[in-house]
Amino acid sequence: MPLTCNTKPSDLQRKTLRPATQSSREIVIFTFMLREMTDLVMPRTCLVCGRKLGAQEEHLCLWCAADLPLTYYWERPHNPMADELNALLERTREECEPMEYVRAAALLFYHHENPYKLIPKALKYGGNVEAGRYFASRLGRYMATAGHFSDVDLVIPVPLHWLRKWARGYNQAAVIAKELAKTLKADYRADVLTRARRTHTQTSLDATARLENVAGVFRVRQVPKEAKHILLVDDTFTTGATLCACYNALREAIGPAQRISVATLSVVQD
Ligand SMILES: [Zn+2]
Repeated sequence: MPLTCNTKPSDLQRKTLRPATQSSREIVIFTFMLREMTDLVMPRTCLVCGRKLGAQEEHLCLWCAADLPLTYYWERPHNPMADELNALLERTREECEPMEYVRAAALLFYHHENPYKLIPKALKYGGNVEAGRYFASRLGRYMATAGHFSDVDLVIPVPLHWLRKWARGYNQAAVIAKELAKTLKADYRADVLTRARRTHTQTSLDATARLENVAGVFRVRQVPKEAKHILLVDDTFTTGATLCACYNALREAIGPAQRISVATLSVVQD
């Protein structure tokens, strides 16, 4: 029945808001109790320190959550990660080709001696897709508030070779990209970029060797013309070689009016 002008807010609250609020509160209490019960059977532990988690904690204990090594790069259009990527792109571009400054952001710093490296590792090697979604969603919320990322309208993951995806069961970059698309209210497309051949693992290679390793590996299928700001997503930014190769493949296929930015869950810090 339509509301009339003389319906008082208090009447409206009594008729609609109160039952909804009560039911939301009941859902929260039920979820909390359910988690307390499942924690008794299968205790959840902190990804970083291994401490048992309380019902109100998600993936990290309160102590580790308080010390999360956030980069805050989403707030800084020019930052060391973006500078490194742009320097690499500069090395690979044709002479006299105009060059945009590519924006880049990551949620966390990754250092091989810092236990917080266990967060991206949980997604990449531990099968913890839930944790990947949780931290990607957090990055997406931060990026949505940053002016230079808030207009992203298409999110594309760095593709994984089908054999590696089959062995792992999922593409870790796609897990992050999907969540970022959701929080940034953008489209998600995993079929725009493909990997033409399998590459050797890049762990022990330097930036130059990595660039050679991924040169010409990526192919582009049709990019939606309506996408004005594309976000390219990977799990970790190490030297930027993979993202550089993806960027160059995409850049060749799209017009100058379409921008490309980059986001990862973590960025390696020397
Ligand atoms: Zn902890």
